[in-house]
Amino acid sequence: MSHDAERFWEQAQSWDELIERCRLLLLDPVFPTVRAWKQRTGGKTVGCFPVYTPQELIAAAGALPVSLFGARGQVEIDHADSRIQSFVCSIARSTLELGLTRHLDWMDALVVPSICDVARNLSGVWQHNFPDRLVFYLHLPQNVESAAAGVYYRGELERLRQGLIELAGRPIPDEAVREAIRLYNGNRALLSRLCELRATRPEQWPASHVYALAAAGNVLPRDEHTQLLERALALGEAVSRPKRDWVRVVLRGAFCEQPPLELLEALEEAGCAVVDDDLQIGARFFLTPVAEDGDPLAALADAYRFQTALTPVNNPGRRSRADDLLRRCRETAAQGVLFASPKFCEPALYDAVLLKRAAERAGLPILEFEYEEKMTVFETVRLQAETFVESLLFFSEVT
Ligand code: SF4
Repeated sequence: MSHDAERFWEQAQSWDELIERCRLLLLDPVFPTVRAWKQRTGGKTVGCFPVYTPQELIAAAGALPVSLFGARGQVEIDHADSRIQSFVCSIARSTLELGLTRHLDWMDALVVPSICDVARNLSGVWQHNFPDRLVFYLHLPQNVESAAAGVYYRGELERLRQGLIELAGRPIPDEAVREAIRLYNGNRALLSRLCELRATRPEQWPASHVYALAAAGNVLPRDEHTQLLERALALGEAVSRPKRDWVRVVLRGAFCEQPPLELLEALEEAGCAVVDDDLQIGARFFLTPVAEDGDPLAALADAYRFQTALTPVNNPGRRSRADDLLRRCRETAAQGVLFASPKFCEPALYDAVLLKRAAERAGLPILEFEYEEKMTVFETVRLQAETFVESLLFFSEVT
């Protein structure tokens, strides 16, 4: 891949062209932009398992952080089942399959955060199967309200910094981390801007398109992804789209393993305008900017304790996830909630029970379904979504 081809957003003449390039990139199990970056720079590449990893530290080491979301249904699981249970979520199995079939041979290190038993197991299996590559299991703090959590997590970040210094063979001074924090703050601000536009005018900024734009950032250096988002914001306003009847919905449950892109498109075709979601939430995990001065590791630790989006795998402290869901529904004028859970994902499935109860008590209609990577038929979900949309449209007409 030439450097010009890597910077495809500069050549894109239209919104549709840009979205199609992002779409192809997110479905490509070969990771062409990552391979091209590695060949061009000779730098180290670090795979980051969801939900959140402190990518600022990796970027400060001059390495390329790459967000891993499994194979997105693009490879058959032939080898992984002999190393990891077949009754775990798709993302763990297909990430391992990608490794065993050399799709991740560009990856010098893997960072796995302590989000669940499956992720912990995957990091161990990975280490066993790829003993020559660094595996870093990041222990995230649980009791975030305790001052000790800040001290503890700063120590964990320092441990990661030392591992990265060894990997990259260069120091990671505080100023380099502060610079990376500035870069990521800027990128998150643009992602938030896109999400705000989608919430305000979903017909103009379809959720599946915003998703593809955000997904491109999984496999691009952060400064380049920021340029891509700037180009997208310029192109998106110029598109003229026909008006249609939509139902505004909030989507929850997809904070780790991602639903197939076709599933998101099927929901839109059925008339669901997703105005808020937890898809690829790690890229916009911090709701407010991380402090850009002072001790950068302490700033990242504080941000983790108090400034994050809420998911079932990070401790909310005094905040309530149910209240958070209802607040987002109010702010986005959502008419219903979609609970989309990956098959075999205990954190998502347990959480859905609590959030569903809160939504129902608040009088919000809900639709619930499960998904997995190898899902290829979307008719059932489409029909359920169409019925859901029709009932909401009917209800809004008679009230
Ligand atoms: S999808 Fe669920 S079970 Fe699987 S790794 Fe992610 S949080 Fe854990």
